[in-house]
Amino acid sequence: MQILVTNDDGIHSTGIQVLANHLSDLAKVVVVAPDRERSAVGHSLTLHSPLRAEEVRPGVFAIDGTPTDCVNLGIHGLLESRPALVVSGINRGGNLGDDITYSGTVSAAMEATLMGVPAFAISLDAKRFGPEDFKSSASFAVKLADMILQKGLPPDTFLNVNVPCSEPRGARLTRQGKRIYGDVVVEKLDPRGRKYYWIGGGELGFQDIEGTDFNAIRDNFISVTPLHLDLTNYRSFDHLASWGLES
Ligand code: MN
Repeated sequence: MQILVTNDDGIHSTGIQVLANHLSDLAKVVVVAPDRERSAVGHSLTLHSPLRAEEVRPGVFAIDGTPTDCVNLGIHGLLESRPALVVSGINRGGNLGDDITYSGTVSAAMEATLMGVPAFAISLDAKRFGPEDFKSSASFAVKLADMILQKGLPPDTFLNVNVPCSEPRGARLTRQGKRIYGDVVVEKLDPRGRKYYWIGGGELGFQDIEGTDFNAIRDNFISVTPLHLDLTNYRSFDHLASWGLES
């Protein structure tokens, strides 16, 4: 039995190393991860250039592609057999609320789900990312991986896990919260006097909604959000039906 481990912070990040070490207590771990940081690439897939896989150590592959590429290559090429589970992380920083569509970490788990392999993403919502800081996340990852290997996940479901920076009080099943996006584009001048822009400069808030991932993290709980890929807004059908589109 094999577990495929990936991330979007790159193969050299501390989070993936701590995660892979801990999960190797459960099963054989194969790491297939980007050769450099690929945060916020979302579910991007490389279709117009070749991909290279370098086996930097036995069972550890660096790919010059995105997290989605890594899961694809891992499942369809690099692993001797289909993995029993894909785990993505441990990400440097939370992946909460509306932010998750940008996340390479979460998209890797999404890709595994598309290939029919159970998966979860795990992120540490902190400001410090030393080996010690990832410990409670890694222990929870092992517990959750063990649970999934025993019980399986419901169909088309993957889990988005976020861990608070201080010692967790426990875990909560949550739903996706709502981000408050502020003035997040910073305009500056380069040394030649031309404007440039930097996205995501400001501190972001979130709406205080009971039962959400944001609130769980604020209250020092580990947040576990079950996600699926169906983005259909079922609640909008009544409203849109009155437009007469279906003539
Ligand atoms: Mn990242």
